Amino acid sequence: MDLSGVHRFEELVRLARNIAVTTHRNPDGDALGSSGALYHYFRAKGKAVSVVLADPVPDTLSFIYEGVPVCGPEAFDGCDLLVCTDFNLISRAGDIEPAIRACKAPKVLIDHHVGPETEAFDLVFSDSGMSSASELVFWILRGMEGGTAALGPEAGRCLMTGMTTDTNNFANSVTSSTLSMAGELLEAGVDRDRILSQLYNSYRPNRVAAMSWLLDNELHLREDGLAYIVVRDKVWHRFGLMEGELEGLVNIPLSIGSVNMSLTLREDPAQGYYRISLRSREGWSARELAMKAFHGGGHEKASGGRLYFPQDIESPDDVYDFMKTLEI
Ligand code: 5GP
Ligand code: MN
Repeated sequence: MDLSGVHRFEELVRLARNIAVTTHRNPDGDALGSSGALYHYFRAKGKAVSVVLADPVPDTLSFIYEGVPVCGPEAFDGCDLLVCTDFNLISRAGDIEPAIRACKAPKVLIDHHVGPETEAFDLVFSDSGMSSASELVFWILRGMEGGTAALGPEAGRCLMTGMTTDTNNFANSVTSSTLSMAGELLEAGVDRDRILSQLYNSYRPNRVAAMSWLLDNELHLREDGLAYIVVRDKVWHRFGLMEGELEGLVNIPLSIGSVNMSLTLREDPAQGYYRISLRSREGWSARELAMKAFHGGGHEKASGGRLYFPQDIESPDDVYDFMKTLEI
């Protein structure tokens, strides 16, 4: 892990009075955990802090942002430092991309995807060997403070949560440094049991009803090891689903021994695309498939993208024909 930029970061933070923090569109647990932790940390240092998001926080993850006010992109105008987390390309920030690019303050990136847009930032922390952006934020802040307790309970809680979601509760991308981080945060008093309950045992019945129906009716298993689940918009509405309630569905087909690659395709007629989540077994690249077929990218074994209609498929109904012939 290359933490040589820590001193420079420390200096930028020391000089700043007004810090803006942002992360990727459709924020997930790691996006919220890494940015939320920075919010609490900078606040404790006496800074004014604005957190800017392109999309709303899903209800299922709103506990991570408890006490974090969300601002519009106009906050970039008045800031004297901008810190971005959990994306490699500014285009991943969504509609606020132009405002980020136009921001005149020094820009810092803290991320764990391959191929960061280095030239757009003054300082880049990028390590694709990290489980999560939250883990990288942890080691940076700990490096600045010389210990974990100094991060404060709120930042610690956010970082533990973000790391937990991106590793799928220690199932993926875990290294000894991830376990060291978890150990240090537990030592500092972070309540992991409470986090697990908030993440995994606080859903509405709608989630289980929808998942059960989808696994019964919309799970397609191809002989070559590709599994996919199509979530049509009418099904989404029939089960009264909310953003985030199908979290984890894409992992279920990978529990079948013969499945090497699993996709969920969620129809979003308002946007004119299917939102694609991809997960793969060791030796198979979800990232390559996301780049090749779905205008996307991400991590080797967990990635995302989109299938546009009418550009990629004429109508949303054609998704089944598309998936039948998709080469993996
Ligand atoms: P999820 O399936 O949980 O939405 O996304 C899994 C991972 O894929 C994310 O952590 C992110 O790294 C990546 N990802 C998701 N959507 C996109 C996308 O549209 N473009 C790119 N480049 N990466 C994505
Ligand atoms: Mn992440």
